[in-house]
Amino acid sequence: MPPQESHYRGRFAPTPSGPLHLGSLLAAVISYLEARRLGGQWLLRMEDLDPPREQAGAADAILRCLEAHGLYWDESVLYQSQRSEAYEAALHKLQQQDALFWCQCSRKALKGQMTYPGTCRTFRSPRANSAVRYRVTEQCDVFIDGFQGSQTANPAQDFGDVILKRRDGFYAYQLAVVVDDARQGITDVVRGIDLLHASYWQRALFRQLDLPTPNFHHFPVLIHANGQKLSKQSQAPAVSLQTPERNLRQVFELLQLDVAPTRPDQMLAHATTLWQPDQLKNIQSLPIALAKMPNRV
Ligand code: GLU
Repeated sequence: MPPQESHYRGRFAPTPSGPLHLGSLLAAVISYLEARRLGGQWLLRMEDLDPPREQAGAADAILRCLEAHGLYWDESVLYQSQRSEAYEAALHKLQQQDALFWCQCSRKALKGQMTYPGTCRTFRSPRANSAVRYRVTEQCDVFIDGFQGSQTANPAQDFGDVILKRRDGFYAYQLAVVVDDARQGITDVVRGIDLLHASYWQRALFRQLDLPTPNFHHFPVLIHANGQKLSKQSQAPAVSLQTPERNLRQVFELLQLDVAPTRPDQMLAHATTLWQPDQLKNIQSLPIALAKMPNRV
């Protein structure tokens, strides 16, 4: 039985640059199972920060797709497109702490650099036509990832200064995710391992902004037989709204959960009783056969 009073608050935070594919359905299901297993809340956030990359109708399509799969969220959906004031307030606070600089380096100028070389670090006050970067100074950060175990890095050296507001005026994911995880009271971030490195920037920002740092859990990414990550960029097909049971069965097979094939909500309830996060301990990728991909819509 889940605990009666759980303070666990998890979330799923899709970017509406296209419909859900198997990898994003896996993210939704794992974060859902983990929240429900612990009797916690599962919240939804639409990361619609980047209108040029957004696909018209994708945000609504994602919500309908989650519902068709029985993935019902708690509370109302938080839309990042409506959160500019909060992001601006966070930037203001960081500016007061002298933690920002205004960067005019072009993509071309930074080509081939593994981390930001510090070129504009001395520009500590606003100037036109600039991206706003966070000065990463931490030399050591250590944390325990729920799936991947002990993590350690030198964020300043390994990752460098990160953009929080783009030159074109749009807020960057690294800022928005921190401000919004705090706003939604998220205690546990469950997402794909491709974002593990971003946790270092985000942990630094939580601390700098004096916000509670959640626990992080990074699950394996799905990879094709050729080793390529399953993603929108690698032409992952959308999961079909017509076959939610089949799509869920495929996710549960990947997670090695022996779930009886019934209605989506019943399958999820059954999976919640079977799910053990230890199954994913130290696993970094889950291979998927192309033949098993769900049909295109
Ligand atoms: N919006 C991100 C994505 O769709 C997820 C961000 C996160 O979970 O922190 O990949």
